[in-house]
Amino acid sequence: MRFDIITVLPGLLESPFAHSILQRAQRKGLSEIVVHNLRDYATNKQKSVDDYPYGGGSGMVMSIEPFAACIEKLKAERDYDEVIFMSPDGEVLTQSIANHLSSKKNLIILCGHYKGIDQRIRDIFVTREISIGDYVLSGGELPAAVLVDAVVRLLPGVLSDETSALSDSFQGDLLDAPIYTRPADWKGHKVPDVLLSGNAAKIDAWRDEQALERTKQRRPDLLND
Ligand code: SAH
Repeated sequence: MRFDIITVLPGLLESPFAHSILQRAQRKGLSEIVVHNLRDYATNKQKSVDDYPYGGGSGMVMSIEPFAACIEKLKAERDYDEVIFMSPDGEVLTQSIANHLSSKKNLIILCGHYKGIDQRIRDIFVTREISIGDYVLSGGELPAAVLVDAVVRLLPGVLSDETSALSDSFQGDLLDAPIYTRPADWKGHKVPDVLLSGNAAKIDAWRDEQALERTKQRRPDLLND
């Protein structure tokens, strides 16, 4: 699966993809993440990618030309399933959106900055708008990294134990059960006996029950949907 991320701050996206699972996914050839510097597509001498808003008001607006040039170049090279704009007024990212996107092949992701991007970019090029939550960040880079992480870890072969993604919270409308590792007794705080019993059926039943209990307490909305 290939991601082309268009940003005015490529440096912000270097580290998130250079470690751990996301790095391994790229090394194994399971995902390709290409970051494009929007400034390389600026058409004017000053290499500016933003301008004052029509109608006045505070904040700069990212211009259509550099985004259009970059998107058109990419589209001439391959077909894209979606052109996604990270935006606080988009649909809020959920596990089911991540699951859905993990079946796609090529995605373009646009990162906004300043006040946002010219509405015509959204009208003409963008096919999907995704928010990572009801709060405003200063740029779309961290949201893009969040989206890519949520999707890449679902690609077959990326996690070493493939079933582990399936038992995570939100897969199957339940939160994950509590987890423990050694020592079995830390200063009198003990791991639940059932987990030490070696009885797989009992352990599964305990985990199901705990997951349900935790979901009822913390996120009853997941059970009502
Ligand atoms: N004026 C905009 C916010 C601009 S913030 C508004 O009120 O809706 C600058 C950029 O950061 C946005 O264009 C977007 O790309 C990104 N961004 C900020 N918060 C975000 C969020 N919660 N989810 C996704 N992207 C976000």
